[in-house]
Amino acid sequence: MNLHCVDCHSAYPPELLYRCANCGGILETVGDDGLMPVSLGEQVTPLLRARRIEASLPGFVGEVWLKDETRNPSGSFKDRLVSAAMARALSLGVGRVVCASSGNAGAATAAYAARAGIPAVIIVPAHTPLGKVTQIAAYGATLLLVEGHYSRSYDLALALAEQHGFANLTTTFINPYAVAGLTAVGREIAGQLGGAPDHVLIPTGSGPLVKGVWQGLIEQGQTTRLVAVQAEGCAPIVRAFEAGDDIVTAWGTPQTIASGISDPLIGYERDGTYTLRLIRESGGSAVAVSDAELRTAMAQLASSEGIYAEPTGASPIAALPKLLATGTLARDAKVICLITGHGFKDAKVYQDMPAHTHTVADPDNILAVAQLCDHVLCHA
Ligand SMILES: *Cc1c(COP(=O)(O)O)cnc(C)c1O
Ligand SMILES: [Zn+2]
Repeated sequence: MNLHCVDCHSAYPPELLYRCANCGGILETVGDDGLMPVSLGEQVTPLLRARRIEASLPGFVGEVWLKDETRNPSGSFKDRLVSAAMARALSLGVGRVVCASSGNAGAATAAYAARAGIPAVIIVPAHTPLGKVTQIAAYGATLLLVEGHYSRSYDLALALAEQHGFANLTTTFINPYAVAGLTAVGREIAGQLGGAPDHVLIPTGSGPLVKGVWQGLIEQGQTTRLVAVQAEGCAPIVRAFEAGDDIVTAWGTPQTIASGISDPLIGYERDGTYTLRLIRESGGSAVAVSDAELRTAMAQLASSEGIYAEPTGASPIAALPKLLATGTLARDAKVICLITGHGFKDAKVYQDMPAHTHTVADPDNILAVAQLCDHVLCHA
């Protein structure tokens, strides 16, 4: 296996290299990895038909499928990147890892470092959701909180990796071995569906997941239209797509409940540009959703399909009606939504929704409780 620059096509041996030494471009792996990943027993994630969501979409006669990535060992698809990158770091003899994260990559890195028995330093923005911070700390990682948005954590992790002997498991396009771990998502989709869907809706930060789906499907001789879903409060790729630009520029200050895709790309704008290129190559598009739309989608996904997702994980559900309204999705399209992260990681957003609880005054009065239930059920 070798590393290869996606821009100038320079090739490198499989070492810990984060950017093309010639042009600064993104590196990808070519050829088989051949390493056993560090494992927490990860399995093929379920692909579930979502008939009640289909029925809720006006005029829709197609199929909606949910690829449930909340079922990964630490609760998000980031486990796929980290188990691959951790194996490579160990095989190169690096005994400590660093990861800049908006939460999920940090949790994955901390979990797999615990599993591998090596120390991890996780760097997150100070405003990261408490559920994610708590999870990272529980795995025993050294947790550094940095004021300001994600890009500042990103720079610090890169400096520690380049100057102090850490392997950088940050999950943008910076670690090619990590990104290679996502090809399995596209491969699984093709296998589970028995072919390619018309569209795959992907919550998108810097875009490795977009690449993984694309590459995995191509490997299986399939293509599909990829739709990057971002939050209105942090949508650099959508902005460039809508403007017809080829270059993605950094976003100012992200403002959204979707922490998993709160990715302003400051200092790694090239990642966004590369992702935009893949989206266009696939004939796909990019769409932004509001926080209000995210909350509605979270509630719908949980109550009508039984899947509890963090705001980012529900973003493809929020995008469905918008894409139908603009005609981007045909009425009979076959669509896959990637549900990327678990609701347990950001329960606060659910806690802030109106609570559907009812206080029982006298638990011995069964008749009164039954009447209360009947009353609630017939007003539901
Ligand atoms: C990291 C993350 C994303 C974005 O993935 P990229 O590959 O960086 O675009 C989407 N959803 C969740 C839950 C994430 O943690
Ligand atoms: Zn290059």
